[in-house]
Amino acid sequence: MPGAGTDKTREWPAFGGPAIILVEPQMGENIGAAARAMGNFGLTDLRLVRPRDGWPNLQAVRSASGADRVIEGARVYDRTEDAIADCTLLLATTAREHGQQKTVIDAEEAARRLQPRIAAGETTGILFGRERTGLENYEISLADLVVTLPVNPAFSSLNLAQAVLILGYEWFKLASGGALPFETQHKAGPAEKKHLLAFFDSLERELDRAEFFRPPEKRPTMTANLRNLFHRMTPTLQDVQTLQGIVRAISEGRKGPARGGLLDGEGAETLRELLAEHNAGRVPRERAPVRGLARLLRRNATDAERLLWKAMVNDRRFAGRGFKRQVPVGQYITDFVSFPLRTVLDLVPPQESEEAKYVRADKRKWLEGRGYRLIELKAAEVEADVRGTLDRIDAALASGQTVT
Ligand code: SAH
Repeated sequence: MPGAGTDKTREWPAFGGPAIILVEPQMGENIGAAARAMGNFGLTDLRLVRPRDGWPNLQAVRSASGADRVIEGARVYDRTEDAIADCTLLLATTAREHGQQKTVIDAEEAARRLQPRIAAGETTGILFGRERTGLENYEISLADLVVTLPVNPAFSSLNLAQAVLILGYEWFKLASGGALPFETQHKAGPAEKKHLLAFFDSLERELDRAEFFRPPEKRPTMTANLRNLFHRMTPTLQDVQTLQGIVRAISEGRKGPARGGLLDGEGAETLRELLAEHNAGRVPRERAPVRGLARLLRRNATDAERLLWKAMVNDRRFAGRGFKRQVPVGQYITDFVSFPLRTVLDLVPPQESEEAKYVRADKRKWLEGRGYRLIELKAAEVEADVRGTLDRIDAALASGQTVT
């Protein structure tokens, strides 16, 4: 894909590099791929000696994948001698032994030999041969050094552009100091022990609550193993905070400290409103409230219920009168009922929908029809003056009158 990985806002490296000299390259494709490899490693000086298909070459442009600068700057020569004329150091690459008295080096060493010369401002070059036959002996003889690569002796010939790539890579690695273009994402350092210890504390406290450490005598070994497990992660502060959050979420639930799923006073009132409006918590055509509903209501007392119940329990006048909270009587759940006194205390919420009023009236009729006395108490009054409410209930119980 042309342009892939190209960043026009960046400068090409200033340290330059050797000229890449392709002798009689045959395929435009290989010239383009060689130019691309050169671009990857910051090389710009491409020299072509008698390219078979002439120059410019459309196929070469395509294969260069945007290494336009290299392609456009390429110079074409009739003779190898002309292509190397300005070089003070020339390397010849080959897969084959040419039987010449020359030092043979690998690509890494080639980069090392080139570097001081290029740094000194000299022009250097690397010769590459034809795809089919490589470099001829006389071309090798023009070079100062022979470069060959450690390869499978049974299959030693590289693609021309790939040979350029390896030489380019070794050059760039040396010249650039081997710095990678980007680094490992900076990871926060390991958490301090105090944070880990705080986490262990809460984890172990919750595990204690869940009776995880069994039998108790194994607790020391188990906690040590647990702690080691987390130490092996070398967690960061963020990791420890996440772990803390997990323990808290599991132990306390999403909405803060566990309250056993209990509603607050307001929530409890809403629950009753909903029930009053929805068939008093009865499944249609059933005569009794939904199973467990009374218990749910008992567990979720409104503020008025809680106040009144507490006051009643602590008031001698009510001891032995047999009041209970949120108990089903027939199809209704009563706020307070005394079966011995056949008396129901009914709390009336501050605002009541028409529907709820209707259900309440029905309840009163039903209870009174069965010999229950119904004492209605305004929730707001209970909350405002619970002692006074108790006095009125007591008086009503004594007189046998109805209180509203
Ligand atoms: N058939 C040719 C190889 C041509 S490959 C031969 O036997 O020589 C094209 C060019 O890539 C070679 O001339 C040389 O410049 C380079 N090349 C290929 N394989 C190489 C290797 N193992 N070591 C060094 N250069 C190599």
